[in-house]
Amino acid sequence: MYNPKSTKSEEFISHNEILATLDYAESNKNNLELIDKIIEKAKLRKGLSYKEATVLLECNIEEKNKEIFALAEQIKKDFYGNRIVMFAPLYLSNYCINGCVYCPYHLKNKNIARKKMTQEEIRREVIALQDMGHKRLAIEAGEDPVNNPIEYILECINTIYNTVHKNGAIRRVNVNIAATTVENYKKLKDANIGTYILFQETYHKESYEKLHPTGPKHNYDYHTEAMDRAMQAGIDDVGLGVLFGLELYRYEFAGLLMHAEHLEAAYGVGPHTVSVPRIRPADDIDPSTFDNGINDEIFEKIVSCIRISLPYTGMIVSTRENQKCREKVLHLGISQISGASKTSVGGYAEPEPEEENSAQFDVSDNRTLDEVVKWLMEMDYIPSFCTACYREGRTGDRFMSLCKSGEIQNCCHPNALMTLKEYLEDYASTETREIGEKLIKNELDNVPKAKVREIVERNLYNISDGKRDFRF
Ligand code: SF4
Ligand code: SF4
Repeated sequence: MYNPKSTKSEEFISHNEILATLDYAESNKNNLELIDKIIEKAKLRKGLSYKEATVLLECNIEEKNKEIFALAEQIKKDFYGNRIVMFAPLYLSNYCINGCVYCPYHLKNKNIARKKMTQEEIRREVIALQDMGHKRLAIEAGEDPVNNPIEYILECINTIYNTVHKNGAIRRVNVNIAATTVENYKKLKDANIGTYILFQETYHKESYEKLHPTGPKHNYDYHTEAMDRAMQAGIDDVGLGVLFGLELYRYEFAGLLMHAEHLEAAYGVGPHTVSVPRIRPADDIDPSTFDNGINDEIFEKIVSCIRISLPYTGMIVSTRENQKCREKVLHLGISQISGASKTSVGGYAEPEPEEENSAQFDVSDNRTLDEVVKWLMEMDYIPSFCTACYREGRTGDRFMSLCKSGEIQNCCHPNALMTLKEYLEDYASTETREIGEKLIKNELDNVPKAKVREIVERNLYNISDGKRDFRF
């Protein structure tokens, strides 16, 4: 029985309810009256239910689809302006005891180089990331209680936060590690993590069990209820995601929104972010062996429908996607992107030798951070290195209420300008710096409150003068 408030996965992600939703969407995909009604509701910017959103995803009427894309673009502008938050992944270790068939880190893969970084290696990687200009990391590690116990992860977080080089600092560490216990989530919370991210991979239980034939991750319920344990441990910023390509995308879409509804119903706070990875080639992995790959058109529709269904949730696209695709989805709802990513264990400080491949997937966008920053600004986006919210205690429902009232914009915009200014001063090429300085000058006029504008102007001057880390 479907029950969004339940903490049992079979009740908050109900297979029968998803099937009924897909039937409903299929039989209403040409129902103009219903689709209009849902679009009108979406215009209120309070989100949609999984059922309504799935009808829009299935909608077959060209003119209405154009309206859906336009609305996604508008909601993106209203909530996120033209800011794009930057981050980079850092793979700590690829030792893993799971058997995920779509991931080269699975236990039986004997081709891949197994690596686990020492604290000294992490320090070197962090310095290399700081020297590019990164301030926000997402750390990743395989599941292996012997090689990567929680103590190792905590030690790595501590090393990352305490590595300070020139003007660089990693100010927010998001954590993407396997589902774990409430006790371990409490330890992560105490280590001052930003968001806890865990991809569901697929919400379809039967497929999930086949795709995860061995290892602790085989346990669908334990994995699906991970965010509940994280919330119970006090981590109130959590990031959801599915790996598109493993199961039918409609099913995943409905499951993902159902999961978001569950978090809202049970804990009063929806997901902080949603990621939309698509399966990519990697050592021992050929994406064409998975039958459910999605083309760019469907991908764009998914991004748009998530954007209008969860207006307050950040959306992340990684370097799994190429420049062209990233350009498209930025307009439609993406608010965070990674730049200059390495998906190997290490590889930022020194490139990994070819014969030692430890990458989780092949990157589709190989540009440097400076190139990505310049590219964003040439499209009139403001690359933001802001990490202010969790450092100011704006997490969970506190963060969401500021988002819902629109007040968060009064922080995001000035913080974007000040952190971009830091980037320009410390790391940008001459050309990028010139473009950036002009952009900041123009964007200052878009800070609505005169008092705030005055503070930003003063802080920008102080940044030119060598001072750092101003925030609202
Ligand atoms: S997806 Fe995660 S858990 Fe599965 S094999 Fe890869 S690293 Fe391990
Ligand atoms: S102010 Fe908060 S929500 Fe806005 S960009 Fe910074 S961290 Fe994100």
